[in-house]
Amino acid sequence: MLQRIKGYIKSFALWDLLCGMRVTGMYFWKRKFTIQYPDEKTPTSPRFRGLHALRRYPNGEERCIACKLCEAVCPALAITIDSEPRADGSRRTTKYDIDLFKCIYCGLCEESCPVDSIVLTNMADYHFENRGENIITKQQLLAIGDKYEAQIAKDREADKPYR
Ligand code: SF4
Ligand code: SF4
Repeated sequence: MLQRIKGYIKSFALWDLLCGMRVTGMYFWKRKFTIQYPDEKTPTSPRFRGLHALRRYPNGEERCIACKLCEAVCPALAITIDSEPRADGSRRTTKYDIDLFKCIYCGLCEESCPVDSIVLTNMADYHFENRGENIITKQQLLAIGDKYEAQIAKDREADKPYR
């Protein structure tokens, strides 16, 4: 009986609502952790493994020497490379595709590359709109590398002591 009376009193006094408002009040003046994505972004680690890129040397020459180590090490068989020698005897890729649906973003391709060519950038927000766009080509990878080279170089420099 006493419990029932207590229940009625609490119900008429909007007790549960007051408890909820108390929690709201406790957090009202505290520092907010919500950010306005995509205008604001949280910092990423230099080791963040996002979208891939192929890098060039400062003179514009592509770094990749078509050794195919990344293709061999990729556990998801996501990389496909074709190559042929140039007139000067150096070897370069004629095709460098990555299937982003197969990729598990393990970073082994980046670790295996002897010339710091294939890297995983800190780009995490990308999408596909048409069938087949999940296959990212050499030209696209080089374009990403060109666009984000400053950030890629900065991240690799920051990570150097730990490699
Ligand atoms: S990140 Fe891993 S799975 Fe993706 S392409 Fe590189 S080696 Fe393959
Ligand atoms: S990206 Fe690096 S590991 Fe892959 S083929 Fe080119 S040089 Fe070799």
